[in-house]
Order: sequence, then structure tokens, then C-alpha cells
Amino acid sequence: MILEHNSTLSENTKKSAELFEKACEVIPGGVTANIKYFAPHPLMMEKGKGSKLYDVDGNEYIDYLLCYGALILGHGHQKVFEAVTKQMLESGTTIFGTPHEMEIKMAEKLIELYSGIEMVRYTNSGLEATLLAIRTAVAYTGKPKLAKFEGHYHGGYDQVLVSVNPDMDKAGDPKAPKSVGESRGLPDYYIENTVVLPFNDLESTEKILRAHAHELAGVILEPIQGGFIPAEQEFMDGLRKLTEELNIVLIFDEVKTGFRLSIGGAQKIYNIKPDITALGKVLGGGFPVGAIGGKKEIMMITSARGGRDILTAGAKNTDKRDPLYHSGTYNGHPTILAAGLATIDVLEKEGTMDDLFAKTQSLRKQLEDVYKKHGLSMQTVGMGSIFNIILSENPIKNYRDMEKADMKLRKEIDYELLKLGVYTKPLNRYSMSVVHTENDILRTVEAHDEAIKRVLK
Ligand code: PMP
Repeated sequence: MILEHNSTLSENTKKSAELFEKACEVIPGGVTANIKYFAPHPLMMEKGKGSKLYDVDGNEYIDYLLCYGALILGHGHQKVFEAVTKQMLESGTTIFGTPHEMEIKMAEKLIELYSGIEMVRYTNSGLEATLLAIRTAVAYTGKPKLAKFEGHYHGGYDQVLVSVNPDMDKAGDPKAPKSVGESRGLPDYYIENTVVLPFNDLESTEKILRAHAHELAGVILEPIQGGFIPAEQEFMDGLRKLTEELNIVLIFDEVKTGFRLSIGGAQKIYNIKPDITALGKVLGGGFPVGAIGGKKEIMMITSARGGRDILTAGAKNTDKRDPLYHSGTYNGHPTILAAGLATIDVLEKEGTMDDLFAKTQSLRKQLEDVYKKHGLSMQTVGMGSIFNIILSENPIKNYRDMEKADMKLRKEIDYELLKLGVYTKPLNRYSMSVVHTENDILRTVEAHDEAIKRVLK
């Protein structure tokens, strides 16, 4: 059984506990995103600065959650603050509610950086981006179903809330995983119409894709599962070839990996052009955003020109081309795009990404040494600026491999780390920012040393 309570966490976080209780009276479960809950209560933050978070009890934390990876420049980066303020003051508004030039600027930037992107559409979240990507694939191919990989997350909606973290007794054969629904309220339709694939197993993936090719619109994947388990190059090459041959749209969900694996995402590292790319997180510089980009031929089916107007009552639909409907009040939000462009601008400065990766490597290596010193089997798994700590000697290539890791011990260590001022949600991956310092790394390594001592005692 994984540790569910750690009462000593509450000793220095009494205000968090009190606030959480209050929250529970007005917000079901006290959180507005289920992932943000952990027992006995999540920590309520009050301030952020650079690589640090400060909770309502005044505790300081070195932040490795970084809003689930979004804050690659850390908290409150001056360039982001300036860009947002400038945009609002100069334009005199938060949002125009019309097309504007920055939408073009950001699109041009994404086209320059991402080999698979020839045209762009904006959304308000990563969830909406993958949703639009999937609808676009269905519209483009005229086929009804989607294939996704076991253990991959693409947002919290019906079509992809399938086999993200399935119980082993329901998940079926590792070579032919079953579709397992992950939420109450999920219509059976999506479980029946979502084909589940085994990550990093090309042979089995090929078998399943060939069997379903006639009905599959797209394959969606996190090129790096959960942001930390890399696809093998051979697997990626094979998947690209297969999807091309079978007329299946290949969708890279780069919501986590975009700007984090390389500035041009996973597609740059793997030298693969997906048909559609979904972006989010870093793209918004800490504000809510998403985008999809892809081949012109595919993306053009979202074009409003020549499409029917379904929202204006009485509008004459003279051109009867079926629309692929995509809209959103806040799509292409200028304040948010300003934050995103400022973020990309910082990342593009020479040496920035290399420094970030070197720092991440250094932390990984030092952590591996500490665990080894204590006689624990541990490996860091990841790429670029993201990694995870896996307490297992076995190679980690997919969801099933994660089952072999010691999650109980990891969780106990994570709770101690919270008390020692190192923040990530227990069991979550580590994301680095450009503002983490050598001293942060040193403190983090020392905290792990102490946490392991306490847990092993
Ligand atoms: N895809 C991936 C790979 C993600 O990691 C996430 C968020 N963790 C999403 C999609 C959904 O993004 P959002 O939370 O912005 O809706």
C-alpha cells in the first residue's frame, strides 16, 4: 500500500491545513484539478520568486514542479512581466476579441522552430489543443477512431481519458493492451472507439495499427511518455513510416516536451515530422494556452473561409463545404502570446538551453550518486530539462515497466523532501528552469541525502 498520510507534514504547514479545510467546504475535494491533491492536504502557496515557492506558513521550497513544467523561466521572470505589462499598456486592453498581429508573429516563430508545423491555430489549454488535433485528424481522414498509447496523458476529456494509469488487472496483455476508462461519467463509446497501443513496442504496435488501419484517423502520443520516458529512435522511425503508409495522422502531443526537450521539441531531437503537433505549457509563459500546428494541407480544413457559419442565426451558408468547427472566445489571447513570445525570446539566447540541460544533467548525476551511496537502486529517467526518479534497476521503457519501481519508498522520500524544502507533488517528475542555481542543486542533493536517511532509519 502506498503511504496515504504523513501526519508530520502538517507540523509546519498548519495554515495550509486550515485553508485546505476551508477550501473543502466550497470546492469539492478542496482542489480544482484532481492532480493537485495529495494527502493529508496539499500545500497552499502564497508567493513565488525565481526557482522558489513560499507557502502560507512561510516555508520556502525549491520548486521542481514549476506548474507541471510550464514555468521554464521560473516564477516572475522580469522579461515576462515586462512583456505582459507592455502589451496591455500599449494596446490599452487585455484582449481585442479580433485577429491581431501577434497571432501571426507567434505562428511564424512556431513554424521556424518546429519542423512539423506549417500553420498554426491557438487554443486555451493543452487539453483543447489535443482535442482539436484529434478532430482535425478525423475530419481529414474521414475515419472515426483514435489510437493512443497506454500510460500517455493528453488532457482530461472523454476521448483520451483511456488507459492513462490503468490497474494491471484490467489492462490486459502488454502486447495488446485493453482500453480502460479512467473517469466516472465516461461514455462507453470512447472506450470502445479508442485503440490502445504499447509504447516502445514497434512489433505489437504495427500489428494493432494494421488491424485497425481502415478505421483509425490518428495516432496520438507523448514522444516522451509522461515527459520522462523517451521513445526509442527506432520505434519513432517505425511509427512515422507506418502511419504514413496506413494514412493515419501522426499527432505529437508536445504539451510537456515543447521547448523543454529542445527549443524545437521532441520532433527536433528525433528528426521526425509529425502531421500535427499539440503545444501548451511553456508556450504561454505561465498563462493558459495551447496551440496546434501541422501540415498545411491538414490544417487548412480548419479554415473559416468557405466554411459554414454555424453561430450566426440566419447566416447564408452558400458554400456548403462542411466546416471543421474550431472557435474560442480567448483563442490567440494577446497578453498571453506576449508572455509566450518573451519566454521563447529568453530561451533563444545563445547558450540558454545548453546551460539548462547541463544543469539538469548535473542534478541527475548527483542525485544518482546519493541514492547509490545509500545502497538504493535508483535511476533518473528523462531528457532535456525533465526527468524522474525511478527506484528500480530495470530498464524503463513504458507504463508497465513503471509498475516494477518502488513507488512506496519514493513517496516516503518525497514527503520528507517537502519538509526539507524541495517541492514537487509527491511522485511527480522534476522540471528544471533557467533560473535554478548551483546552490539550489546543492541544497536539493543534500535534502535527498537527509530524506533518504530519515526514511531508511
Ligand atoms: N498533453 C500533455 C502531454 C500534458 O502533459 C497535458 C497537461 N499535463 C495536457 C495535454 C493537457 O494540458 P492542459 O492541462 O493545459 O489542459
